[in-house]
Amino acid sequence: MRKIQNLRNRTLNGGSELAFSPWAKDFRNKFQTAYIRADIHKCKACWNCVDVCPEQVFGKMGFLWHKHVVIENHESCIGCKKCVKVCPHGVFTTIDKAK
Ligand code: SF4
Ligand code: SF4
Repeated sequence: MRKIQNLRNRTLNGGSELAFSPWAKDFRNKFQTAYIRADIHKCKACWNCVDVCPEQVFGKMGFLWHKHVVIENHESCIGCKKCVKVCPHGVFTTIDKAK
């Protein structure tokens, strides 16, 4: 019962503790690097970004009709923004490092 109350309190406090959990960090790294964020729901699997990325940050999810880009090596991103420019569907947005 105490565990449930603690979890509830942490969630009501904005979930800040949960947001910094290792699980949350791993999950976030599937959708962003230090420089770009990906909205994979917009992806049409043209693979332009996979071809243009100089650091092999991206991989391909291809399971029947379920096809989209995935971030496999978030730590390799150098912030060149080639993926942002080449994507025809606006999947990527840049993360402003000045914030
Ligand atoms: S360039 Fe855009 S639409 Fe094409 S695979 Fe990459 S994220 Fe998807
Ligand atoms: S910013 Fe450059 S290095 Fe980073 S994922 Fe996009 S193309 Fe690759």
